[in-house]
Amino acid sequence: MNPTFFDVNESSRTMSFTIEILPALSNNYTFLLSDPDLGLATVIDPSDGPQVATALKKRDLYLALILNTHHHPDHTGGNEFLQQEFGAPVIGPLEEKNLIPGISRGVTRNDIITFSTLRGQVLPTHGHTDGHISFYFPQIKALFSGDVLFPLGCGRLIEGNSAQMWESLILIRNLPDDTLIYASHELAEENVSFALSVDKKNFELQKRAATLLAQRKAGKPSVPMILGDEKRFNPFLRPDNADFRKVLATAGIAPEDADPAAVFGLLRSAKDHFGQNGL
Ligand code: ZN
Ligand code: FE
Repeated sequence: MNPTFFDVNESSRTMSFTIEILPALSNNYTFLLSDPDLGLATVIDPSDGPQVATALKKRDLYLALILNTHHHPDHTGGNEFLQQEFGAPVIGPLEEKNLIPGISRGVTRNDIITFSTLRGQVLPTHGHTDGHISFYFPQIKALFSGDVLFPLGCGRLIEGNSAQMWESLILIRNLPDDTLIYASHELAEENVSFALSVDKKNFELQKRAATLLAQRKAGKPSVPMILGDEKRFNPFLRPDNADFRKVLATAGIAPEDADPAAVFGLLRSAKDHFGQNGL
């Protein structure tokens, strides 16, 4: 299915925005999107309220908006604290309205959210949970994608099915190559080992894996990913690639003639049984 996108009118002033990564809990990332000129920020997927409040104070920012990609507590745990502290509204998936603490507005496919001069599009990216959404800001080429896509990996199917997740991944794959993907977990290492186990002889993938591991070894997050890299290397974005389907057939993971959604499902379940405990 093709995404529906909207024209965005650029404002005449020079816009400058920053996105900062706040590592939280065991491997979560919370993101601060801010307009330093206005002194305002939006937080995406706050795990830990006091941590976010401290970060805002340090940067002299006031919280204008809280965004949640889905209802899991590692993405919404900071909502109520931050709401009490700043009175900021919480926007999250309409389908999960009953499960999200402090939610003020539920959004779904084609809805627009605004922050400063930015217009964010709500993309339905169901699969990890039934109502999971991503926030796409074309003006800054940023996608806040929660638990859908990770470097060389994708989210676990907790509530949804593989057909939904495959549709979500195609929606993301249709965005421009230079889109920056802000994924809500650090999972590079475990995804590298699964991807290499599947596609052992792929020299390009080996190089990509080495780059990711070096980045991690240097203490840097693997996020944001560049979507163009994921399109080339992420096995979960390649179930409709003829060469990769041959690899999967040889590995006994999926028959070559299965349709892409089925291939995706078989690949995802191979990862579920790979003996890792992350996503
Ligand atoms: Zn989750
Ligand atoms: Fe999560």
